[in-house]
Amino acid sequence: MAFSLISTCTGCGAKNRVPAARLADTGRCGACKLPLPPATEPINVDAAAFDEIVGSAKVPVLVDFWAEWCGPCRMAAPEVHQLAQEVAGQALVLKVDTDAEQRLAARYQVQSIPYFVVFRHGQPAMQKAGVTGRAEMRRWLAA
Ligand SMILES: [Zn+2]
Repeated sequence: MAFSLISTCTGCGAKNRVPAARLADTGRCGACKLPLPPATEPINVDAAAFDEIVGSAKVPVLVDFWAEWCGPCRMAAPEVHQLAQEVAGQALVLKVDTDAEQRLAARYQVQSIPYFVVFRHGQPAMQKAGVTGRAEMRRWLAA
C-alpha cells in the first residue's frame, strides 16, 4: 500500500491523506478547503515508506537513523524535531528506527548512531554520524 500521512485540518478537524510526493507542499483540506500546511514534524518511516518518500521528494530529505536504547539519539531528537518545524515546506525530516529497519540501515553503512543522511533527488548527498545541532543540519539542507 502506498504511503500517506494523515494530516488533521486545524480549521474543521477533517483527516486528510497526504501522499508521499506532497508532504512538503501546502495542500488544501478536502472538506473545508482551508490550506493544509506541509509536514512540520519528523516522520517515522519503515523501508517501504522511506523508498517512496525519498524517491519522490522534490525537496532535500534529512534522515535520522536512531534507536530506542541510544542515549545520544535521545539528545539529538529535540533538535531533529525542531528542525522539522523550521524547514517545513523546504525539506523533509524522516526518522528510521535502526532496530526495526536493520537492512535499510545497512544499505547506508550506518554503524554508529545517531547517523544522518541528506538525500537530494533520491541520492545520498552527505552522511554524518554523531549528535549535531539543528543549525548545522540546516546548513546541510541548504548546501
Ligand atoms: Zn478542513
